Amino acid sequence: MIDLLVAGGGPAGAATAIRAALAGLEVIVVEPREVPQDKACGEGIAGSAVDYLQRLGVSPAGRPFHGIRYLDAGHCVDARFRVGPGLGVRRTTLQESLHNRLASLGVPVLRDRVSVITQDLTSVTAAGITARYLAAADGLHSPIRRSLGLTGQPHLGALRSLGPLARLGPAAGEARSRIGLPTPAAVEVRRGLRRHYSVAPWSELVEVYWSPLGEAYVTPVADDLVGVAVLTSERGSFDSHLAAFPALQRRLAGAVPAGTVLGAGPLRQRVRGRVAGRVLLVGDAAGYVDALTGEGIAVALRTSAELVRCVERDDPAAYEAAWRRVSWECRFLTGSLLWARNRSLLAPRIVPAAAALPGVFAAIVNRLG
Ligand SMILES: Cc1cc2nc3c(=O)[nH]c(=O)nc-3n(C[C@H](O)[C@H](O)[C@H](O)COP(=O)(O)OP(=O)(O)OC[C@H]3O[C@@H](n4cnc5c(N)ncnc54)[C@H](O)[C@@H]3O)c2cc1C
Repeated sequence: MIDLLVAGGGPAGAATAIRAALAGLEVIVVEPREVPQDKACGEGIAGSAVDYLQRLGVSPAGRPFHGIRYLDAGHCVDARFRVGPGLGVRRTTLQESLHNRLASLGVPVLRDRVSVITQDLTSVTAAGITARYLAAADGLHSPIRRSLGLTGQPHLGALRSLGPLARLGPAAGEARSRIGLPTPAAVEVRRGLRRHYSVAPWSELVEVYWSPLGEAYVTPVADDLVGVAVLTSERGSFDSHLAAFPALQRRLAGAVPAGTVLGAGPLRQRVRGRVAGRVLLVGDAAGYVDALTGEGIAVALRTSAELVRCVERDDPAAYEAAWRRVSWECRFLTGSLLWARNRSLLAPRIVPAAAALPGVFAAIVNRLG
């Protein structure tokens, strides 16, 4: 019996497995798709996450960014990072670096899929492998989470740390629509689309363009490449969405689209709990608020370290509290910003407020970074 079986070779699963191997645990990764795979992602990695990756021995090539810029039709405000820069990294490059590190540590990555899971008091078996624990890092729509009955509204205690939007249950929906606020269905179904453009980055910041349609992120990922990720609850093609951001469209005029458009969503994933016996959820599988603050990978890395600590201590029950502790600030800030974003009166005031209070904006950006 091995110590840890990891389902999923994305950033969360690979980082969990690397951390476990460095801790001296015997670990195997099961990943159904060929690596490296591309994925819809803004590809901006927070500075703290870049440091953590380096400590794991993972140093992907990318392009540093030094802060965040918010723009709307009439405002532009910059928040620079006070400590180290973040890194724009092509998803495939990140995957390759993580999997090279797994190979150098001798961690097997099996081309298989976890489906049926059986467990008893001392072990868990999946994909023909028996382990002390299973880390489910199978992504946003986690089939493992669903099969364990962990998908859905969390209990009230867990909601307290998620920001005002999350605390409004379904009963509040009717009241909200009566006073003209978006209903839960309208505010929750956000999706992301991402495309690259062959063009030299024009800024050393990640730019976030705001419009009534949603937000468009521009991340420099190489000296001749930027990624553009559009987040919206509207249906439509990437090009039709881009028309809602005329300033960005002007920036991209003449730039050649590189590669295909990738999409992901619905982004919001509610989770009842992160532990089911010997199975622990990590990364997007453990729950997701939104890509609005671009923190998914940082949270995945932080929580993966907690998961491995719980496995080392043979204390799976401690993981839920640890997961909440290390992710609450990001969930709170993202949940609160999303809450404001989904209110028709507040949304147009977000960028003007950031421009009027640049110190507050910079403080929030630096907390997240
Ligand atoms: C539009 C968009 C923009 C984003 N921008 C940013 C950003 O700028 N910065 C940032 O940090 N984050 C960003 N994120 C979030 C970030 O992409 C995710 O948080 C991150 O990819 C989570 O990694 P993961 O390993 O949990 O999941 P994934 O990367 O989805 O990996 C899951 C893996 O599990 C595998 N799998 C699936 N089913 C099974 C199974 N049954 N058994 C075994 N394996 C299985 C899949 O093949 C996959 O390889 C963004 C997300 C979106 C949608």
